[in-house]
Amino acid sequence: MNCPKCKTPSLVGTNPHSGISSLRCSACGGYWVKMEQILPMMELELFDDRADAPPKADAEVDAVTGLCPEGHGLMTRARVVTDDTFFLDRCIGCGGIWFDRGEWEKVASAHLVEEIAAFWTKAWQSRQRETSRQKEYLQ
Ligand SMILES: [Zn+2]
Ligand SMILES: [Zn+2]
Repeated sequence: MNCPKCKTPSLVGTNPHSGISSLRCSACGGYWVKMEQILPMMELELFDDRADAPPKADAEVDAVTGLCPEGHGLMTRARVVTDDTFFLDRCIGCGGIWFDRGEWEKVASAHLVEEIAAFWTKAWQSRQRETSRQKEYLQ
């Protein structure tokens, strides 16, 4: 399957023995995970952030969305306001979520794992806009 960001067939299966199916891009280190598998993956610490992994996704990679690797077309972006604002991409066709390298870590350190499902709702997004306006004001 094609990586949404690299647009090359570089997605490989991870964790074959855990019973959790997720895919990782061997080129950019991004992850393709289904919503219901995010929590188990976090708990089992299956997200791999080794030192020899590819470099972290830069802002340029994060700035554009991509195509669902499973062929459902363009994914939908959700803005996540933390100390380091970023975007997550989700396919509304299959519920898969694309994490650029390092993004799951940001979600985890902001304690937002349990709210991931809400990221793409209007209410959550307007709260994010409010938060970023407040941040701008305080700066
Ligand atoms: Zn990639
Ligand atoms: Zn899809």
